[in-house]
Amino acid sequence: MKVFKTIKSIHSNLLVINKSKSLGFVPTMGALHGGHLSIIKKAKKENDYIVVSIFVNPTQFDNKEDLINYPSTIDNDLKLLKSISCDFVFCPTANEIYDSKIKSESFNFNGLDQVMEGAFRKGHFDGVGTIVKRFFEILKPNKAYFGEKDFQQLQIIKKMVSINCFPIQIIPCPIFREADGLAMSSRNVRLNLQQRNAAPIIHKILIKSKELFANKGIETVKYFVEKEFENNPFLALEYFEIAEIDTLISINKKLKNKKYRAFIAAFAGEVRLIDNIALN
Ligand code: AMP
Repeated sequence: MKVFKTIKSIHSNLLVINKSKSLGFVPTMGALHGGHLSIIKKAKKENDYIVVSIFVNPTQFDNKEDLINYPSTIDNDLKLLKSISCDFVFCPTANEIYDSKIKSESFNFNGLDQVMEGAFRKGHFDGVGTIVKRFFEILKPNKAYFGEKDFQQLQIIKKMVSINCFPIQIIPCPIFREADGLAMSSRNVRLNLQQRNAAPIIHKILIKSKELFANKGIETVKYFVEKEFENNPFLALEYFEIAEIDTLISINKKLKNKKYRAFIAAFAGEVRLIDNIALN
């Protein structure tokens, strides 16, 4: 496994890869967990070579505290990546990526960035679009892998690829969970014991929402979710939305031949958790 910190050094290594071989790319912010590893293993199976980036991207954080407190476990990350035979790791500094101007490009994502995460985390998706575009330009992968845990991000990346006509296939990867249903996340290590014990209810609420969605109206589903959070002393709901999967527009009425997902963002103390589920 080769680890690179500069664009120049990774370029010179990628250039020697035969053009007929495929390169799979998995962007991460490090503090790797089973969710990341499941994606990286999938990428490994489907490509001749893989590159994993570890970069905590400052421009996608709307909240300074969240950026400062973002966990960093680089030594352990590198050990894990080596153990699964990752080929290349790219872990640049912010200056290497942004020069002296740590600033986002602004994108038109056709409204995909105006709802849910985009509405509650101002500028977040311009930051995500900027860094992923930059990585795509540097690494020129054939395929790039993104988790459905961040479903809105996945749709935005697909849009960014189509706007820029990048010849890169975006591969969605299913949500990886702890045994009790909590979606794996780098932020989970910041939960205290009570919050950690409370957090799996988020997935249980999503499963119950799916059952209700099959037989009841949207209002009933929303009422159920809001009540569940009101009655929970450890979790505060930020939003619950049921949205059509391509436009991410939230709905009041189900339409035939459309696919929907339910999305939750909630706080456990200072820690923000997100999760979602396919409804049909
Ligand atoms: P992050 O390091 O949080 O930016 O995540 C890097 C990639 O891993 C993103 O594509 C995430 O959607 C994905 N990811 C994070 N957690 C999970 C999970 N529990 N299951 C599947 N994918 C995940």
